[in-house]
This record gives sequence, structure tokens and C-alpha cells, in this order.
Amino acid sequence: MCRVTLIGAGLAGSLLAIYLARGGHRVTVYEWRPDLRRVEVPAGRSINLALANRGIAALAALGLMDDVEKLLIPMRGRMLHDEHGRLELQAYGQRPHEVIYSVSRPMLTALLLDAAEATGRVRIHFGRRCEAVDLARGTLTLCDASGGREDVPFEVVIGCDGVNSSVREAILEATSGACSEEPLAHGYKELSIPPAAGGGFRMEPHALHVWPRGGYMLIALPNLDGGFTVTLFLPHEGQDSFAALSDEARLTAFFEARFPNVSALMPHLAAEFFRHPTGRLGTLRTRPWRVRDRALLLGDAAHAVVPFHGQGMNCAFEDCSALDACLKRWPDDWAQAFAEFETLRKPNAEALAHLSIENYLEMRSTVRDPKYQLKKALAFRLEDRHPERFIPRYSMVMFHRIPYAEAQRRGVIQDQILEVLTAGVPDLDDVDYGYADRLIAERLDEINEC
Ligand SMILES: Cc1cc2nc3c(=O)[nH]c(=O)nc-3n(C[C@H](O)[C@H](O)[C@H](O)COP(=O)(O)OP(=O)(O)OC[C@H]3O[C@@H](n4cnc5c(N)ncnc54)[C@H](O)[C@@H]3O)c2cc1C
Repeated sequence: MCRVTLIGAGLAGSLLAIYLARGGHRVTVYEWRPDLRRVEVPAGRSINLALANRGIAALAALGLMDDVEKLLIPMRGRMLHDEHGRLELQAYGQRPHEVIYSVSRPMLTALLLDAAEATGRVRIHFGRRCEAVDLARGTLTLCDASGGREDVPFEVVIGCDGVNSSVREAILEATSGACSEEPLAHGYKELSIPPAAGGGFRMEPHALHVWPRGGYMLIALPNLDGGFTVTLFLPHEGQDSFAALSDEARLTAFFEARFPNVSALMPHLAAEFFRHPTGRLGTLRTRPWRVRDRALLLGDAAHAVVPFHGQGMNCAFEDCSALDACLKRWPDDWAQAFAEFETLRKPNAEALAHLSIENYLEMRSTVRDPKYQLKKALAFRLEDRHPERFIPRYSMVMFHRIPYAEAQRRGVIQDQILEVLTAGVPDLDDVDYGYADRLIAERLDEINEC
């Protein structure tokens, strides 16, 4: 049994606490924010998220899915809204279970915090910020909202403290490691579509709505109360940008011109736009993720990515189950377990970073291209013909647990195959399927799903 200290009780920290407690360890968690089960979460901070297969697998392994399911709204595909208000549903998968789920971040976090405390082995201290970590002495410096500071000892510390991780700072200092942040030129703003008068959804609830506009986009995910959380992704600077939307008149004109069928559904648009913060997005890469058996990073603290594949939380949850497996393989050697965790997860985090950036272009622009749509339809047909070798890339990431790096590698080959097969071909029925079968047999080995 180990005494483990976690910094951060967000999505990763709260799930990891349960894994560690179930493994027989005693866990102390320090979380900077107040307990979200007791205070209202400030608006504008990514209120809902897409949960997919990897995240579900990590929750299911702990028997949490019966409760989590009550929070989920299935989304079967992207509902594309064009400039004229026309709708088109692009299915995410082609089998009934190939859907992703909208889930409220605060509700899911609250459920995990309850489950962590219910183990009887987890103590969570809210309103305590970790200011510094002294890895040599094994002490944390904590401060509270009133400015009080204290040093507390730790045996093992795991940084689940997100993109601005204090544990990462300490690891970098102790190891002369390296960290880079690649900011995206686009930011985000959270807005909302309230439920219809008398309750109910004002748009199709079982879809992730997207208004792709080339250089930017708007998306909306359903909430259990009948409303939608809407997120505007837009460049920070330039012609169509956050900087350009400097007053209500400009904002209203922009929405009415670019998103005509949605602005009428957003009675609080201006108030929310000017009250909510503009979020920054970027990709964080750091190394190493660990120091001996003393410290480790997990979730966004180790590998924050841009949110366009809806995988940051899913990847963080997969981290938790991967770390649990490493600790079970090396119960008496945590240094080895941490080393194995980093070796296994780092290439996958790197692949996810790439996939997430690529998916932004796809969501805001490529989805509208008829060639993209032909390739997507063909990918489904090839999956039907060769399910053991060809799975559309989106499906590999969202509906399978094929490691991200493998999904990326196979995705590149598959895209080359799709490109060749659709060159000069107007319709699915004109594709040379004999040639497709040969290409797949030659270039794609059988999938070995973990
Ligand atoms: C707009 C947007 C949309 C997204 N959509 C999706 C999606 O659809 N699907 C998906 O899978 N992912 C999505 N993500 C990514 C997802 O939010 C993150 O990957 C996920 O929250 C990572 O969890 P975490 O616990 O590692 O970090 P966080 O959620 O950031 O939690 C870190 C916690 O640590 C606490 N903390 C920070 N510093 C300290 C400190 N010094 N001391 C004590 N506590 C501290 C924080 O208060 C916080 O509670 C999205 C992200 C954004 C920005």
C-alpha cells in the first residue's frame, strides 16, 4: 500500500483517485477550486464534453457506467448547418453502438468525486492550491483562498493539475527537461441555446451540431435540461475574429450573416459573449513525465491537446486505466511502473495531438467538400468488406481502443487508398472494388486491438 498525493480533482484526478483507492492505496487530493458539488461552476468553462469509447472503457472497468449512463445523451453524427440554414446529418459510424455521448463536465466530475470518497480511502481538500513541489525534500507548498500557506509532506505525487501544472514545473526543474506550448491562433467562447419554453430541445438532440464556415466554426452539444452548450471557435485576430467582434452591433450582424438559423435561438448571445472569457487553445508537449518513483504527470498536465477530436478527457481517462495496469505489473517498483507508463502513453499522446489539429480543419471546412463525403462513404463500404483491416480513422479513434499512434499510422495509409480509389470517380458505385481489395490486402495488416 502506498500513500499517493494527487494535485487536481478535475476529470483525471478524480478518476485516478478511484483507481488508486481500488488498488488498495491511500489517496490525498488537493484541488484549487471549491467543491463543485457545493458551489455553482462559473459559466463559460467548457460545460459539456463528448465522451467516447476509450473514456467509457476506463469508467466501465470501475463499474461506474450504470450511474454515468444517466448523464449521457447519445449523438449519432454531425448535424451540419450551411449558410442558408439547410441541415445534413453525417453519421459518425455505421453500427448502432457507434455514437458518442454528450455529458456535463460538472455532473460527471461530481459523480467521480462521490465515487472516490465512497471508497473510504480518498481524502479531497478543496480550495488548496499547490504552489510548489520540492521533489528532493518531498514537500508541497499549499496555499488557500485567504492567503494561508503551509508545507505538507508527500511520498508520491501525481500531477493531474491540467495545462498549467505545478508538478510539471517541479519535474522540469529536477530533470532539465523540456516543455513546449504551441498556441492555436483560434480561441473559443462558450454560449448557450436555452431549452424551449415549456421544456424540450429546440434542435435535434441526438447530434453534435456544427456550423462549418471555413476559417472558423460554431458547434453545439445537447444538455439534459433541453438546452445546448454552444462554442464559437474563431481566430483571435483578423477580419472574422474575436478582436473584430468588439461591440453588440458587430456581434449581432456577424451572427445573423454567418449563422442565420441559430442566432434566433440565442436570446442571451450578447450578454454571454461579452461576459464569458475567451478561452485559449494549444498543444502542450513536455518531457519527461516522471521523476523516479516520486512524481508523475497524467492527463492535460502531461499532454494538453486542442479539443477538435473530443478526446482530451477520453485520453486522460485512458491514462488512468493504463497507469493502473502498469502499477499492477510493477506493484513493488513504482519507478518502473512510471517509466513504462510514459513509454506507452507518450507516443499516443503525440499522435492524438496531430489528429486533433487535423480534425479542426475537417470540422470547420473539409466536411462540406463532396470529395470528403465520397471518401467517407467509401471508407464505410471498405470497412464492411474488410472489418479486420480497414476501419475509418474517426471510428478507430472514437469507437475502438486501437492506440492513437496506430490509428494515426493506419489512417495515413487508408487515406492514400481512398485517394487512389476516388481519383476521377464521381460515385461510390464507380469505385473499382477488386482493386480496393488488393490494395487493402497489400497495405494494411490485420488490426490487433488492445
Ligand atoms: C473547449 C473545450 C472543449 C473540450 N471538449 C472535449 C470533449 O468533447 N471531449 C474530451 O474528451 N475532451 C474535451 N476537452 C478536453 C478536456 O476538457 C481535458 O482534456 C480534460 O479536462 C483534462 O482533464 P484533467 O483532469 O487532466 O485537467 P483539468 O480538467 O484541467 O483539471 C485540472 C484540475 O486541477 C486543478 N488545479 C490546477 N492547478 C492546480 C494547482 N496548482 N493546485 C491544485 N489544483 C490545481 C484545477 O482546478 C482542475 O480542477 C475539451 C477542452 C476544451 C477547452
